[in-house]
Amino acid sequence: MAMDVFESFAEHNREFVKTFAYGDLQMWPELTAVVVTCVDPRLEFHAILGADLGEIAILRSIGGRVTAAVLRDLSIYSALAAQASGSVSEPLKILLVHHTDCGAERLKDPATRALLEEQAGIVAGDIEWLTIADHHETLTHDLAVMVAHPGLPEGTSVAGYLYDVHSGEMTEIVPPTEVRRMPQL
Ligand SMILES: [Zn+2]
Repeated sequence: MAMDVFESFAEHNREFVKTFAYGDLQMWPELTAVVVTCVDPRLEFHAILGADLGEIAILRSIGGRVTAAVLRDLSIYSALAAQASGSVSEPLKILLVHHTDCGAERLKDPATRALLEEQAGIVAGDIEWLTIADHHETLTHDLAVMVAHPGLPEGTSVAGYLYDVHSGEMTEIVPPTEVRRMPQL
């Protein structure tokens, strides 16, 4: 049964290449926008934001939490894309989008914690900070972490949103803020 899924994807792709028209796209997203969000399959940002292939980049983590890995990837991506475009590029616009009914809200549940420890060897204390209890609080916190990260170039803009998986509505929680670096003394 599982193999049917692989085969149907392969079949779809054989059709996809027949009319493929995106071969000249660049590594840099055309709208210079990166969405940082959760792995949840209900979050399909090309549909949600009306973007086409190559217009936005998407970076995912559990809960859309801004982890060390997410910060590292954003820094690498900013640098690589700037280099690929040849000269000075427009700084990235980063949309941090968390969502309702998120798995990260369940990390506080004792049964979930027990399962994580048993199946994945993950100790609850180690992932305490990943838990989402209050979306406004978490978004504000994660955006502050992002803005403070030295790997993000000056001029990068960041904003925080909450996406409602039941209505499809994306609400702004933290308005766009531009990253400003203190002048070196
Ligand atoms: Zn989620």
